[in-house]
Amino acid sequence: MVIKVDAVVVKEYVVGESDKYITLFTREYGIIQVGAPRAKKFDKGLASGTELFVYGEFVLTQYKHTYKLISVEPRYTFHHLRENLVILSYASYIAEFVSEVATESSGNSELLTLMLYALHSLNKSSEESAERIRRTFEMRALVVLGFTPELTRCVSCGMSVEGDEHATYTFLVEEGGLCCKKCRSMSALITLSYTTWYVLNYIRLAPYKTLFNFEIKPYVLQEMARLCDEMVAYYIEKSFKTLEFIKSLGILS
Ligand SMILES: [Zn+2]
Repeated sequence: MVIKVDAVVVKEYVVGESDKYITLFTREYGIIQVGAPRAKKFDKGLASGTELFVYGEFVLTQYKHTYKLISVEPRYTFHHLRENLVILSYASYIAEFVSEVATESSGNSELLTLMLYALHSLNKSSEESAERIRRTFEMRALVVLGFTPELTRCVSCGMSVEGDEHATYTFLVEEGGLCCKKCRSMSALITLSYTTWYVLNYIRLAPYKTLFNFEIKPYVLQEMARLCDEMVAYYIEKSFKTLEFIKSLGILS
């Protein structure tokens, strides 16, 4: 059977002298492994269309769970991602993240859309923005995956939490949300400033078109980073090779 999928290449491997295997994150079928005979050497269109991060329409043959690439019509190649090692590392992390959390045979159209906007944003950004884009991606990915942080009421007593620029907020990772002053205990709390609280609300709700378009001060990014690290560790429970590499670059404070 011949099928068409809307997808991004999230992994590529060369096999032998001329063939490739690619992992596609598809809108329709989630993560699938696809054989791409002759894509390495003999067919220029297939070679460029099967590079990491290429987004497009892929035509495949499907036999049970085996897929073979026939042709690809790239829509975006995100070629700037490869021009800077820091940007490339962050883009690779986003690709690794989706290949870890997405599953075979169940599509996750919204996660694919989020990924495309994140790659697009990295593709036109400087390396100084990469960490902010990563944290925004992670926080919104948690929302897409059903782990929306509770930012408007206390997770313990349900009391509504107001926006107040003089307030500090405390976040309980295991309960997935904010905790009011009365219910605050001493353990496992993350403190957030008003600005971080405001930014998190923005990330939770902003349309994808403007999601990545904001600037923040370093302390806000640090608070977001700590929360994202703990939320991802607790709810996603995966370790990422690309993050080890990003740490080894020594760019994180
Ligand atoms: Zn409470």
